[in-house]
Amino acid sequence: MAADARNTLIQTYYRALFQAWGPQNWWPARSRFEVIVGAYLTQNTAWTNVEKAMANLRAARLLSVKGIRKVALAELERLIRPSGYFRQKARRLKTFVDFLDQQYGGSLTRMFARPTKEIREELLKLNGVGQETADSVLLYAGNHPVFVVDAYTRRILARHAILTDDASYEDVRKLLEKSLAPLAESADNSEESFNPQRTASFPNPPHPPSPMSAAKRTALTQVYNEMHGLIVGVGKNYCKKSQPECDGCPLQAFLPDLK
Ligand code: SF4
Repeated sequence: MAADARNTLIQTYYRALFQAWGPQNWWPARSRFEVIVGAYLTQNTAWTNVEKAMANLRAARLLSVKGIRKVALAELERLIRPSGYFRQKARRLKTFVDFLDQQYGGSLTRMFARPTKEIREELLKLNGVGQETADSVLLYAGNHPVFVVDAYTRRILARHAILTDDASYEDVRKLLEKSLAPLAESADNSEESFNPQRTASFPNPPHPPSPMSAAKRTALTQVYNEMHGLIVGVGKNYCKKSQPECDGCPLQAFLPDLK
């Protein structure tokens, strides 16, 4: 498929999904550090398990840089146990705080003030930070303009013959970023530019707005944020791994005729 056609299709998907479901209010967190903890804990587990681990940390008043710095490793493991792989994840959270302390004096503001490419490279060197985790931290906690590619993104694009299964993370990321950027330059990504009558109700209640989902951000990061949340909705509710359930999916009208 030609590059221009792919870009146009992805913009069309964004409009169709946003028209159908509206804002998804990602990321559900009260602070930048909560986003980061969530990005680590959500690896290889469902979000409901992350919420239990986060609730434990919050109840223990440890959901902060200071809290993770001071808590004993064994106690941290106990608190985040519901998220699975808890020993590994506890060590990784400690590693992140050590990195923040050593490189940025414990300041997320100083870390996120660095250019996107440089922080991304630093994050990717940390134990347990892959591309999806690094980009979640950059986009949702740092307001940096990167698109978060997940398994849902790949699956949907492959099933619609926009990309092949073996496309690299970077290829998918660049395609989404390039395709969606023009939406941020126009007013077309605003709620007002769409028909307020939703064309389909979201199958599960979307997350309620959180301090981080409602935080001020650039138009570009807002579009990347929204598209990622919408794709998660498609993947969780319709485009399932074993078998797509296309009836009712807002992208059904765009399925290619592969015959
Ligand atoms: S569920 Fe069907 S229509 Fe929806 S994204 Fe997947 S393949 Fe496309």
